[in-house]
Amino acid sequence: MNMFDLSGRLGLVTGSSRGIGYALAKGLLQAGARVVIHGRDVKQATLAATTLADETGGRTRVSTFDVTDLAAVDRGIADIEADWGTPDILVNNAGLQRRKPFIEFSLEDWDDLVATNLTSAFLVGQRVARGMVARGSGKIINIGSVQSQLARPGIAPYSATKGGIVMLTKGLCADLGPSGVQTNALAPGYFETELTRALVEDEEFSAWVKGRTPAGRWGKVEDLIGALVFLASPASDFVNGQVLFVDGGMTAVV
Ligand code: NDP
Repeated sequence: MNMFDLSGRLGLVTGSSRGIGYALAKGLLQAGARVVIHGRDVKQATLAATTLADETGGRTRVSTFDVTDLAAVDRGIADIEADWGTPDILVNNAGLQRRKPFIEFSLEDWDDLVATNLTSAFLVGQRVARGMVARGSGKIINIGSVQSQLARPGIAPYSATKGGIVMLTKGLCADLGPSGVQTNALAPGYFETELTRALVEDEEFSAWVKGRTPAGRWGKVEDLIGALVFLASPASDFVNGQVLFVDGGMTAVV
């Protein structure tokens, strides 16, 4: 079966200097792709790129730009294109979380969440899609969440951004599908990362996650790799505009 083989492909995973993005980048490397490792902190991204290349024997390159800044995105993608060409696979993963009761949420926190979780996918997606459309092929994978479909107290703005990611995904499917570009969303359940460290350490919350998830546990980042490689590879060439939940069954049950 070579329909999952990514040899000769170039991947860009935003926010791959740590957490879920790091694991996703590793998965693409293991499937044979070259991968651009990205974040804002150049030291952290360089360390991640070196470690990943050592661990997988694959080729990595570092790119650091702020995904919320149009001019920085343009410069960052232009540099990648000049060096390695337009990515075949773009994973819009960079994101952040802020928690507060809705009536206490500041406009500043709302703006940060929308910019980092949603506007970023518009900016990076549009810039990379120009090259993909010109070439007539490409795979865009937007990282959603259980909160793309289900709300929870204290994270209304985050949920709004992750719901938005789903409709942006469908919009890109409509616009880019005729040019040979597939856009899908990968929606993780509760995973152990920096973003969720406080929740993992909160015994009550952790017990809730395990009880609410049919799999009975938190996700491990490696759990996302199979779904990612599927969405990045020729195996999914007729799959477009879909949301694939990798959540141990959480969104399937009440
Ligand atoms: P982390 O906080 O561990 O990592 C975030 C990554 O994004 C880092 O590499 C960070 O690098 C980068 N980043 C953040 N802001 C920017 C920015 N403005 N410009 C460029 N890069 C940026 O997050 P997770 O790995 O936990 O989350 C990754 C994605 O997965 C997010 O979209 C999140 O919503 C989603 N998700 C996470 C779940 C979980 O359980 N953890 C569950 C469901 C979805 P740097 O700081 O150097 O910029």
